[in-house]
Amino acid sequence: MQLSHYPAKLQPLQDNLFGEKAIQLSVLRLDELHPVVSGNKLFKLQLFLKQAVEENKTGVLTFGGPYSNHLVAAAFAARENDLKSVGFVRGEQPAILSHTLEACDSYGMKLQFITRDDYAKKFEPGFLNDIFQSFPNHLVIPEGGYDPLGSQGAARIMDEIPAETTHICCAVGTATTVAGLLLGAKPNQKIVAFSALRGLSDFGDRIQYLTGLEYKDLNLELVNEYDFGGYAKKNQQLFDFMNQFYLQYQIPTDMIYTGKMMFGVMQRIRENFFPPGSKIVCVHTGGLQGNQSLPAGTLVFD
Ligand SMILES: *Cc1c(COP(=O)(O)O)cnc(C)c1O
Repeated sequence: MQLSHYPAKLQPLQDNLFGEKAIQLSVLRLDELHPVVSGNKLFKLQLFLKQAVEENKTGVLTFGGPYSNHLVAAAFAARENDLKSVGFVRGEQPAILSHTLEACDSYGMKLQFITRDDYAKKFEPGFLNDIFQSFPNHLVIPEGGYDPLGSQGAARIMDEIPAETTHICCAVGTATTVAGLLLGAKPNQKIVAFSALRGLSDFGDRIQYLTGLEYKDLNLELVNEYDFGGYAKKNQQLFDFMNQFYLQYQIPTDMIYTGKMMFGVMQRIRENFFPPGSKIVCVHTGGLQGNQSLPAGTLVFD
């Protein structure tokens, strides 16, 4: 795959607070792998693409909303592998395409808009059969790469994280990326999962499905307090934090996942959640293209 910065950079952060608490913190800059495509999405997609190539598929077919980082990544990854791509987009076709869908289109993805009701049926076998007939010989990738194959691809993110790391922080959507980290982590490394969704009551079932491991045996903690009201909800406090974090460390974050995660991590450090001696790595999963839907001037970076 054509990635501009690979292997990913591990950026150590300096702050008096970290000295005071006797912890170390670094950010794994998967956001730098590609300007538009989220780093974690490429990891999650890689084994699907490999399978499609090995099985001589014509293309891949997947699903997402009009701002989906997964859709752009699938469009990009398919093109890199000389495969076609079809994206089923939730909702009516808008008069003007979102930045995200523009990017999908520029990577050659065929966009098919489907009503919310039909979209909800995407896991029903009969519904998929109809789709298969319109797009023969396409590999179906579940929304967000939510499949054990997606997690096995994401497990390779652990190759970028030093062995002495004690805590690995990551944002959660479908939980596929966190499941991958668990597959690649050593038992003494704790995964701290920051939910971008309200509640996420089926997190344990998801992790079990994705990893095949017993949830209760895992060194994993789900943190639920930093969703800012729910998925894609945002407010001035979040923007202020993202701006201040950028000015201090020159690290841009996105408003859906990584901004909220870093806000939560800093708060948890102040509250002594991480014991002295902790070596923390925060996985910057990317997603920066989503900030383009904000009014100009909201953020000090773009
Ligand atoms: C999709 C995404 C996530 C969530 O990943 P999951 O594997 O679905 O949990 C986190 N961060 C960014 C930037 C994303 O685009």
